Amino acid sequence: MACCGSSDKPCYNTTDSLTRSKHAVTSNQLKIVLVGQGGVGKSSITLQYVKGQYNEYIDMTIGAAYFYKTLSVNGKDIKLDIWDTAGQDRFRCVAAMFYRGAAGAIVVYDITDKESFLGAQSWIKQLLQNSNNPVQICLVGNKLDLADSRRSVSKEEGKSFAEKNGYLFVETSAKTAENIDGLFNQLVRKIVNADGEVPASYDNDNNITLT
Ligand code: GDP
Ligand code: MG
Repeated sequence: MACCGSSDKPCYNTTDSLTRSKHAVTSNQLKIVLVGQGGVGKSSITLQYVKGQYNEYIDMTIGAAYFYKTLSVNGKDIKLDIWDTAGQDRFRCVAAMFYRGAAGAIVVYDITDKESFLGAQSWIKQLLQNSNNPVQICLVGNKLDLADSRRSVSKEEGKSFAEKNGYLFVETSAKTAENIDGLFNQLVRKIVNADGEVPASYDNDNNITLT
């Protein structure tokens, strides 16, 4: 499992991030999970957002990878705990373990791959079945840089599916960074209140017990 922070501060190792006790959790902390079919760009979106990097030969995610980044909303710092899950079918049950405590979910499909769009629905279903919070969903059509040559899901299609279900919607390119900051800003702003505080209704305890 990979683990990576946005600064030079030591990052949590796998064990720490999985077993962090409640006292390590600050009040202004939000858990965000990325879900969706393998290859749609979840890890690339995360890497671009957290580190400002893009890597064409990015490694396939095994299980899930943890990142964090601090975002300032209305003058208040919010620590985002970002869990980038693996989208391959054999990791589906593993991904579900990471939904607990999530306040926001980024459900990604590839705008050049219709199947990944159709599959987004089943990822959302699994997410809702396994989350214990009123999770705010943002549907993301990624690989916008390929829109001119290879688009197979129209913007209207993605948008109307999202609107019908009350999800946020954005198209991004992890490659060019288009709308990547905007995606996280939009999602976090939808979750926190006007004072930049995380509502108490969110269970920030994202401990995972390994048995
Ligand atoms: P994941 O399995 O959902 O985590 O997908 P990855 O982030 O591993 O990306 C899968 C492949 O798609 C990699 O070769 C990436 O370089 C490529 N990719 C990811 N995002 C983009 C994008 O925005 N544009 C383009 N053209 N390729 C992308
Ligand atoms: Mg990945």
